[in-house]
Amino acid sequence: MSTAAELLRASGLPPLEARILLMHVLGWRRTELITRDHEALDADCVARFEALAARRTAGEPIAQLTGKREFFGLDFAVTPDVLIPRPETELLVELTLDAIAGTPGARVLDLGTGTGAIAVSIAHARPDARVWAVDRSPAALDVARGNAQTLLAPERTGGPITLVESDWTANIDPSLRFEAIVSNPPYIASDDPHLDQGDLRFEPRGALTDDADGLSAIRAIIETAPFLLASGGALWIEHGYDQSDAVRRLLAARGFSDVRSMRDLAGIERCSGGRFTA
Ligand code: GLN
Repeated sequence: MSTAAELLRASGLPPLEARILLMHVLGWRRTELITRDHEALDADCVARFEALAARRTAGEPIAQLTGKREFFGLDFAVTPDVLIPRPETELLVELTLDAIAGTPGARVLDLGTGTGAIAVSIAHARPDARVWAVDRSPAALDVARGNAQTLLAPERTGGPITLVESDWTANIDPSLRFEAIVSNPPYIASDDPHLDQGDLRFEPRGALTDDADGLSAIRAIIETAPFLLASGGALWIEHGYDQSDAVRRLLAARGFSDVRSMRDLAGIERCSGGRFTA
């Protein structure tokens, strides 16, 4: 017979990670880990916790083990088919919401949606916005579809998110115009050692790296976005810690105005964007 207190002590994991996995297995709140810490747990729960702890020790991301990650105040389902939502990407959502603040019924396009974290957060914060989300991976679109269904009110004025299987803008109806286009594309260079470290080893490689210099997806998005932006529409892109100069240069060279970069909570220039006036 084991108790929560014993399992947490014996797991060998960092305490916070052990607590998250045990709460997941038991369906308990954080406070119950304290108030119920001497209850005998049933053998099935003990075995499930120990299996998850072993997988965590072997490196699997917490978000894949629990199947979820909080982003922008919402609980997103996560599978190995999608990038795990990162806190710094909340900045990208805020910038896009700012860009459409004055526009009722604004149209927003999220390129490379993955979990749908960006698209669903925007649709949740702005029930009137009409949101399209693109991914080239059908498995990712399934995850995004599930998250949209779980997290968005069926009666939202902007209607359901339109999910499109597409390599960037290739399959987007060219007659559509958007007040904002947003993307967190793969921006890690193929030779970056981080790809072989931590959670990244378990995430889809195509969501992390362009298998080139880290800027090729960003170049493609900046090149094609103007064809789909309403006049004065905004493009915001997340990028790596050392890419802001290059991304601002690409935006300016393509004719964007108001080009600027914004810092994430760690103080790193993490998102760059501008407006395109036809
Ligand atoms: N921010 C992620 C990381 O560095 C990368 C996400 C991406 O390539 N879009 O772990």
